[in-house]
Amino acid sequence: MASEVLTWQSKLVQPESRAPAGFRSLVTPVYRGSTTLFESAAATRDTWKQDTTPYSYGLYGTPTSLELAARIAELEGGHHTFLTPGGQAAISLVNFALLKPGDHVLTPDAIYGPHRQFGDGMLHKFGVEVEYYDPLIGTGIEHLVRSNTKLIWCESPGSVTMEVQDLPAIVKVANSQGITVAIDNTYSAGVLLDAFAHGAHVTIQALTKYIGGHSDLLLGSVTVKDAERYELLGEAHQALGMAVSPDDCSLALRGMQTLAVRLEKLGASCLQVAKWLEARPEISQVLHPAIPSSPGHSIWARDFKGSASVFSIVFDERFTKEQILRFIDTLSIFKIGYSWGGVTSLAVPYFDIRRAHRDYGHRLVRLNIGLESVDDLLGDLAAALSTLDG
Ligand SMILES: *Cc1c(COP(=O)(O)O)cnc(C)c1O
Repeated sequence: MASEVLTWQSKLVQPESRAPAGFRSLVTPVYRGSTTLFESAAATRDTWKQDTTPYSYGLYGTPTSLELAARIAELEGGHHTFLTPGGQAAISLVNFALLKPGDHVLTPDAIYGPHRQFGDGMLHKFGVEVEYYDPLIGTGIEHLVRSNTKLIWCESPGSVTMEVQDLPAIVKVANSQGITVAIDNTYSAGVLLDAFAHGAHVTIQALTKYIGGHSDLLLGSVTVKDAERYELLGEAHQALGMAVSPDDCSLALRGMQTLAVRLEKLGASCLQVAKWLEARPEISQVLHPAIPSSPGHSIWARDFKGSASVFSIVFDERFTKEQILRFIDTLSIFKIGYSWGGVTSLAVPYFDIRRAHRDYGHRLVRLNIGLESVDDLLGDLAAALSTLDG
């Protein structure tokens, strides 16, 4: 009735004709929405807490983003997952939610580079003291804990230098002092290391990597183990306005469906390439957790269900920086670029990387193995290595 009196301009915005109801597909729809409608004025609520009001504003979740969040929480065995615009945003969310001026945080030396910048910049500016520790410290962490230590970060294996951490040993010390342990579990895609079973209280992932899996989205997740940290993280998530795109969530939901087969194939190809490189005279060390000479290998063998697609190689000391750059430039199947976890093999130099207990000089190159055939990848590496001694 009302539509007969509406002008055509109003009908453009409030039409009466609709597609038929009853469509069912296997795919979670992409729900766009900032405004969320309420049944009545009395029912309006402005809250991020889905347990009381599932939908109150697009920022706090749409069915698309909440479906992804629920599936990440389920996969990791957590209490609840918050989605963030990227992995780095997940890191800043945890730090902002759990720390205040005067607090002390222990962060491994091999933490993801931009996380270190966040600690030295933003956290320092807000009066939080960040202390870096040797990722291989294990129970020795007890000597670094202070009365104002509120948070211990782990990342295992560490970025670029791949040290595997003794998470249970660190958790044991933290629990005896009431300290939260948060782990960047991106390498494991939340599955190769069951971080919650090993005692972590908070996990983060760059969903950009294995959950997305195709180098076409940026997303992050923060998953909490218990209700207390759920409140702290949820409040900070709202305050910081961590909005995510439903399109990216939809791509991540698609990526998740093939995570198991991709990880299995990527892990197997990567290990094959790593072992091949280990036997080459040009390479002095292969930093890959499944290689026995890699730092923390025995802990990896104890705690992990497998290995992933990213690792690093250290060239022999006789090679100059220019030779190693030329090696990378000679590769053709391997592309040159940051990030990892997609279908394309990548190489990137990490020269003069700062690690307190290990110095790799200008000799470290990180590789990501994709879904190309291993034979082609080895051919590409062999051709590039042959330029070194020439
Ligand atoms: C890539 C990465 C991040 C950051 O993720 P973005 O989505 O790129 O912001 C965080 N931690 C680790 C270990 C990473 O590799």
